[in-house]
Amino acid sequence: MTFEEIKNLDEQYVIHAYSRFPVAIDRGQGAVLWDVNGKEYIDFTAGIGVTSLGYADEGWMKAVTEQAAKLSHISNLFYTEPYAKVAQKLCVPTGMSNVMFSNSGAEANEAMIKLARKWSFDQYGKGRGTVITLRNSFHGRTITTLAATGQDKFHDYFFPFTEGFRYADANDIDSLEGVAGHDVCAVMMELIQGEGGVLPLDQEYVHKVADLCEKRDWLLLIDEVQTGIGRTGALFAFQQYDIQPDAVSFAKGIAGGLPFGGVMSGEKCRDVFTPGTHGTTFGGNPIAAAASCYVLDQLDAPFLAQVREKGDYLRAQVEELELPCLGKTRGMGLMIGVEVNEGWTNRELAGRLIESGLLVLTAGPGLRFLPPLTITQEEMDRGLSILKGTLG
Ligand SMILES: *Cc1c(COP(=O)(O)O)cnc(C)c1O
Repeated sequence: MTFEEIKNLDEQYVIHAYSRFPVAIDRGQGAVLWDVNGKEYIDFTAGIGVTSLGYADEGWMKAVTEQAAKLSHISNLFYTEPYAKVAQKLCVPTGMSNVMFSNSGAEANEAMIKLARKWSFDQYGKGRGTVITLRNSFHGRTITTLAATGQDKFHDYFFPFTEGFRYADANDIDSLEGVAGHDVCAVMMELIQGEGGVLPLDQEYVHKVADLCEKRDWLLLIDEVQTGIGRTGALFAFQQYDIQPDAVSFAKGIAGGLPFGGVMSGEKCRDVFTPGTHGTTFGGNPIAAAASCYVLDQLDAPFLAQVREKGDYLRAQVEELELPCLGKTRGMGLMIGVEVNEGWTNRELAGRLIESGLLVLTAGPGLRFLPPLTITQEEMDRGLSILKGTLG
């Protein structure tokens, strides 16, 4: 089908919940994509941090197709090998105790919130279900995770929202103490606010929050849906902050392009969910689990060191270009935010870059780069030269 044919079908039959760019992507290889007209693009998006090993990775395809040929799905009423293995691969290197799977980030966060509330109910009884989250955060699109999201623009239309969330300013411990109360059971936050604009929390602040949680017997819940699975140059960003959370959610990059996610629990709440208290039909699907095992096996120390080096390289190169429309860069590893200077909008710049053959994302008022973790030097340089040629 031609682009026009696809677009017309989409316009007629698809609910318009997205403002799309005028490109229909057809296939990919590494960090390069081709649209239906055969035009080539360098990918600095990885489908919003999902295709962590790029496109058509040989080992990933083998893991997926072998599992598909063996067992595509079975309910959570039975054991499967990929499911048990991926749980081990997540818990052992992180010091977390056990894990429950889901299909998306929002569901993983829902499970994490349920875990915190039930833990508190088991310990203290009713009336202690409030979760403090941070302003400018993003935790998902379900009614409850929208309520957890600390941005007013997400709190329209869909009333009534789930109650039991209060918001504090990021990097301000007094603000957090100011909204504390006897009804609080947990603090939930992203270590780098992703959708909010790639805003890393200060190390010192994060340690103060962890201490406060300890003192008040609140759970520390870390949303690593975007930062996790190697994106920041560690398996999880919390390891770079040197904290041990009570629960950690993950999704996006784990299965390298298939829907998968989950919540890992620490020792304190490892036995909170008992049979019947939480569940999912698809969560833990064997194909997605097998893909996740393969992805996690790639993320050894040298691989993660390369993610950090590539991130440093990209940021240094972007800043060195001194483009009139772009300002400073932020982030960790291959989670990179670029400021957009006054007089330009991120949407307009993203549109121009995409038209020139470089896929980029926006976040907050800036641009965001989340390339496949396997992006090569040559692919990065091609992306940078498009950046220079288009915005220079
Ligand atoms: C993307 C994202 C989510 C939501 O994940 P979905 O898979 O879209 O439900 C939640 N939290 C963070 C930090 C995210 O980046």
